Amino acid sequence: VIEIRDLHKAYGALEVLKGVSMTAPRGHVLSLIGSSGSGKSTLLRCANLLEDSQQGEILFEGEPITWKGTGLHRRPADRKQVMRIRTNLSMVFQQFNLWAHMTILENVMEAPVTVLGRPKKDVEEAARAYLDKVGIGDKCDVYPAQMSGGQQQRAAIARALCMEPKALLFDEPTSALDPELEQEVVKVIKALAEEGRTMIIVTHDMRMANDVSDHVVFLHQGRVEEEGAPADLFGAPKTERLQQFLSATV
Ligand code: ATP
Ligand code: MG
Repeated sequence: VIEIRDLHKAYGALEVLKGVSMTAPRGHVLSLIGSSGSGKSTLLRCANLLEDSQQGEILFEGEPITWKGTGLHRRPADRKQVMRIRTNLSMVFQQFNLWAHMTILENVMEAPVTVLGRPKKDVEEAARAYLDKVGIGDKCDVYPAQMSGGQQQRAAIARALCMEPKALLFDEPTSALDPELEQEVVKVIKALAEEGRTMIIVTHDMRMANDVSDHVVFLHQGRVEEEGAPADLFGAPKTERLQQFLSATV
């Protein structure tokens, strides 16, 4: 579904992505690991066009969706296309980002109603079903501040699902959570993986990456240093950098 080819991204003189390529086929779970500052969040933000990039291509369902060409010839995707991508790649952040002044149900219904213009009644039905699915169907009328971090993150996942996206992008979905709460969220992500959802997950949780991924990409200083099946990457890392990274994270 999503293919990234030779993506380059710099903030001023700071080169963050130095030619990154990766593919997340339909129904696959791709995990992105690497040390802090290696460019993982930047890559996700580029993938759903929250950030521009300087070189390279992003394809969504085989169609190039982003800035093409280089330098002065580089052109942004048109507005409509950007909207289509954003609604099809729902993002879940570390800090949930729920609206504090809206109930959980209102949070989940907001974007499908206002952005997609879907009928309120249908959206409400879907929203309740997704909240049930992530195990907080009883929290519809509660405000985010009245819920635990794990519950808030599950609400954020329900909100992403309610957009009926083609793929989900997660940026460290569990790292703001205490270990017990983390497991609630890992369980939800595992269930989504088993359903065959297309997902790209940036995570520090190597156990989750090992359990849910079809493919793991290790990013180091803006480059793909090593990638492969989780059993190979975690079981027999080839590069010294990945070996070091894994021994530091366990
Ligand atoms: P972490 O594991 O800490 O979340 P990361 O791999 O997600 O790290 P990024 O957030 O992608 O790393 O950041 C990569 C580099 O880009 C860092 O050096 C960061 O300081 C820099 N950077 C990120 N966003 C910006 C920005 N908006 N302006 C300037 N520099 C930025
Ligand atoms: Mg990050």
